[in-house]
Amino acid sequence: MKLLYEGKAKRLYETEQPDELLMEFKDDATAFNGEKHALFENKGRMNQALSLLLMQLLEKEGVATHFVRTIDDIHMIVKNVEIIKVEVVVRNVAAGSLCKRTWFEEGAPLKTPIVEYFLKDDDLGDPMISDDHIREMELATPEEVAQLKAGALRINEILKPFFLKTGLNLVDFKLEFGRLASDPSTIILADEITPDTCRLWDTTTGEKMDKDRFRRDLGNVMESYAEVLKRAEDAVHS
Ligand code: UDP
Repeated sequence: MKLLYEGKAKRLYETEQPDELLMEFKDDATAFNGEKHALFENKGRMNQALSLLLMQLLEKEGVATHFVRTIDDIHMIVKNVEIIKVEVVVRNVAAGSLCKRTWFEEGAPLKTPIVEYFLKDDDLGDPMISDDHIREMELATPEEVAQLKAGALRINEILKPFFLKTGLNLVDFKLEFGRLASDPSTIILADEITPDTCRLWDTTTGEKMDKDRFRRDLGNVMESYAEVLKRAEDAVHS
């Protein structure tokens, strides 16, 4: 099968169906724009399982996602979309780059979720941009930006209480959306939702259960990913 795209944590292949792609979850972990790299056994499998579970949860709540069907532990069929080159970040608690850019201290709760946009460009280090930049760069129309923002906030309203049920605080997360190849006027959720793309803190201990364990060399990276997956599976089945 023809490899169409290789990212830091996933590969995308063409399929016989022009409106479908094969997505593969890799065991690679990267941070600081690829400067730090490691391989973690089973990471691909765990990330696919969690992303799948969360996207199915979102679909049940009426959020359109790219997920079509699973092939095996690390491969799923997804809808072919043209990715919008804007990373949409939703924050419930201050952490990460927000604390570097502003006066918020790590852990400060935000009264209302903050939505931020970042240009998806590794060479530029994914800089933060505004809705005006998005319009001028023609990355998306103002109507599409409104859809991205409303979609991201709706997803937060679904995921935040879900994770709370599992004893995890959804601190922040990053989403990517795409236009359907078969109908570019339709925007759906694409990419992944995993501990690579979310910050999740244990509600009782405050322990970080996400990629910050790798970024900050906190150890037990995969143990935390496995724990997040287990708690999410238990919550879905309860
Ligand atoms: N994030 C991501 N990919 C990126 C940048 C950020 O998935 O390229 C996620 C990150 O894991 C966190 C949220 O988006 O959950 C907000 O990240 P932040 O802007 O604080 O940047 P970072 O701390 O990663 O520098």
